[in-house]
Amino acid sequence: MISSIKHFVKTFTLFELLQGLSVTGKYFFSKKVTVQYPEQKTPISPRFRGHHALRRYPNGEERCIACKLCEAACPALAIDIELEERADGTRRTTKYDIDMFKCIYCGFCEEACPVDAIVETQIFEYHFEERGEHVITKEKLLAFGDKHEAEIAKHRAIDAPYR
Ligand code: SF4
Ligand code: SF4
Repeated sequence: MISSIKHFVKTFTLFELLQGLSVTGKYFFSKKVTVQYPEQKTPISPRFRGHHALRRYPNGEERCIACKLCEAACPALAIDIELEERADGTRRTTKYDIDMFKCIYCGFCEEACPVDAIVETQIFEYHFEERGEHVITKEKLLAFGDKHEAEIAKHRAIDAPYR
């Protein structure tokens, strides 16, 4: 009997409807959290692991010494390196490919590199238009590094105390 009275009162006063509307009203006036991407961007950590780049020293020399540690550390077997020895005894890569379809953006290559040559940048908005473009060559990685060096160096410096 009591439950049927309760049910009648709830129905008569539109209690459940008002209860639902109160939730709507609460969110209607609260601070909006939706980000209007791509016009709006969220902050990105200096440690963000996006598109790879190969870096150079300020004198233009490649940092990479072809030690292959990154290739060995890569769990996805995404890195493919070939190398040669120069006349002065130093080693440099003749091929440095990263297959972006295999890469899982774990950052192990970056961690393994003793000379900060291979890094992952904050750039995550990129695409491929032609078949085979997902394999990023050494030339492209170096060009990418040259283009974004200032940003890369800044983020490495911010993160340096934690490494
Ligand atoms: S981020 Fe990880 S998966 Fe990608 S190339 Fe580096 S080590 Fe390999
Ligand atoms: S990028 Fe770094 S870890 Fe990889 S081969 Fe070059 S020097 Fe070695």
